[in-house]
Amino acid sequence: MYKSTLRFQIFLRLAYGQVFIQARGFGQPLSIEELQLQEGGIMLLKKYTLEIFKSKCQSDAKGVHCFAHLDEDVSDALPYLNTALGGFEFLTDPPAVTFRAQGKLITVHGKKIAVNALKDAREAEKIVAWLKNEINDAWQNRDEIEPSTTGMPKPGIMEILKLLPKTNCRECNEPTCMVFATKVAEGAKGADDCTGIGAVENEKLTQYMGQFRLDV
Ligand code: SF4
Repeated sequence: MYKSTLRFQIFLRLAYGQVFIQARGFGQPLSIEELQLQEGGIMLLKKYTLEIFKSKCQSDAKGVHCFAHLDEDVSDALPYLNTALGGFEFLTDPPAVTFRAQGKLITVHGKKIAVNALKDAREAEKIVAWLKNEINDAWQNRDEIEPSTTGMPKPGIMEILKLLPKTNCRECNEPTCMVFATKVAEGAKGADDCTGIGAVENEKLTQYMGQFRLDV
């Protein structure tokens, strides 16, 4: 009696399993995660929640800042993302990578992304969606990427300042040439934004800045 019950159960399980496999083969479409797994990839970051806010110190300023709170921890992907996007600062404990992309300063932590100086919520959504793809791509292609936990070389502010007229004329909308040099080092301004710079210095500054990867 016991043996026949057991045989019946095994038969049922095998038969049910076969039906299940057939049903999956012909019917239900696979989810994106399943499709990626079939292709040998793994989607690391699946969901996040956006928090969009104005700066507390500049409540009258135009534009917004954004945090994306991540459902999954992407810490392990950060050294690969650093290589892929050329981060200029990498912190190891806790891990975080900072880079400039699409004209924004972006920091990716294990469970949070911070993006500053956005035009509006729509731009925040667009940039975070792009970042989600970049994180997943870096993780998926990690066998071909050399992970790095160091930042790329940065431009020297004093090197930039040396090439500016240093008259603090404010025509570039910055209070001093030093502030302007800081903005150039961050990739937010370029040689052509200084109205007083000579042709030779403009050329030298453009060449100097050309060595650095400041935006992606
Ligand atoms: S326009 Fe040029 S010279 Fe004038 S403050 Fe700006 S950086 Fe300095």
